Amino acid sequence: MMSDVPLYKNKVLFLSQNFFIKDNRSELLLCAHKYDFDILFFSEVSNFVAAVEADGCHSLYVIDLDALHNMQADMQDSRKTLMLGELLQRLPCKHSYVYLQSARQGSRFLLQQRLVDSNCLAYAEKPIANDVLVDKLFNLFVQQKRGDLVRLIYLGELAGLDPAALLDERIELTHHLDAQTLHLRVKELQPDIVLITDAEYARTESLVRVLRKNMEADPVREIALLQRQPDPALTRRALASGFDAIVPVADADLLAAQLVNRASKIRIGRDLIGKDRATGLLNKVGLQKKAQDLIRRAGLEGCQLAFGVIDIDKFKTINDTWGHYFGDIVIKRLSLTLASQVGESDLLSRFGGEEFVVVFWDCTLEQGWARLDAMRQAFCAIPFEVGAGDFRHFSFSGGVAAYPEYKSENELFLRADAMLYEAKEGGRNQICAASSGQRRSAAH
Ligand code: GH3
Ligand code: MG
Ligand code: MG
Repeated sequence: MMSDVPLYKNKVLFLSQNFFIKDNRSELLLCAHKYDFDILFFSEVSNFVAAVEADGCHSLYVIDLDALHNMQADMQDSRKTLMLGELLQRLPCKHSYVYLQSARQGSRFLLQQRLVDSNCLAYAEKPIANDVLVDKLFNLFVQQKRGDLVRLIYLGELAGLDPAALLDERIELTHHLDAQTLHLRVKELQPDIVLITDAEYARTESLVRVLRKNMEADPVREIALLQRQPDPALTRRALASGFDAIVPVADADLLAAQLVNRASKIRIGRDLIGKDRATGLLNKVGLQKKAQDLIRRAGLEGCQLAFGVIDIDKFKTINDTWGHYFGDIVIKRLSLTLASQVGESDLLSRFGGEEFVVVFWDCTLEQGWARLDAMRQAFCAIPFEVGAGDFRHFSFSGGVAAYPEYKSENELFLRADAMLYEAKEGGRNQICAASSGQRRSAAH
């Protein structure tokens, strides 16, 4: 398989004694690949250090501390056991590290203290199952990256908050002035956080219930009370009426710092719920929300949308012939091919196993068909090496439907899926955008 794009988005450099990873290595790698990262193993400190130094900072660096007991320092001629202090000293200090320690090491508080103060990003205790370790490392990757925009709306007077500084932290601040229309603004903006000052709440206590009881309201949306004066009775009523949190406001800087932390938690939650780990694309849940937003926007702006559904052809045979792991790589490669052809305003989702959905912004049915067909051709052109020198090509079929002809996300999906079925019936490796009789299909 040839491509300039690396197959996995992230990388872990892993310093470990050989025997810990020897039997484990391939299983650990398999787990990691499902989470879109690759692991490079090192058994020598010097090689590890050199690789860390050469790395562009986007990787995670993991150190199994048992390496200390079993590994010889490859320093001078005389080989000697590498002590913790010495190891820590040799690690480039502009990076931080994930330490894996044994329970015995963990019970020694001094050692632990030493570790968390030594460029420690996180530590974990062994034994730790492969899938658990990979899952935790994945969370660290998620926390590392610059996140999506978090939308925040506030009601009441909030002196001193700096919208530009918050925008730098990927938080978009909207001030709303009227308690009576807050629910309408929330419906329109779909913010992640709603902040209401204590003064506004005291004036209109049903505010939060109006936001909460709307069946269509996002159940994970955070609604917080900004409290200037401690007032236990008001706090109690606020919590009972549906506020998630009470944020004391002493000064604007502290409030901003709290908002930044909250936004980062919200992003992590949103990613874990709405994204597919193996490809980093939206999953079914994430797509639904984004597609609904996009359809709403298209309605407001009078734009058309093209909604495409893609399914790899004869994928069971691919799995059965070359193994599930190879099948996963085909899926991964397809996701990269599709991702390279969608724009900022489009949506791309791994909807299920080997099924993908694309939504093209400002795009007619015809154009949607053409863009999907270009993707089909690009995927078909990829040579997959199934054995030494043995290259195969695979294909997918697709169906397209368009907004506003079909109005809701569900209708668009059903129509596009029906078109996909026609493409399969018509011999696969083609895109259908209209019923048979007037079928537009690709030559193959
Ligand atoms: P068709 O051309 O009609 O689509 O034939 P198909 O064999 O692709 O049929 P179908 O789409 O129904 O089969 C999908 C198969 O994909 C079934 C399932 O075992 C496999 N699959 C689903 N998710 C994954 C995955 O994440 N990895 C791998 N390797 N296989 C998967
Ligand atoms: Mg399928
Ligand atoms: Mg299929």
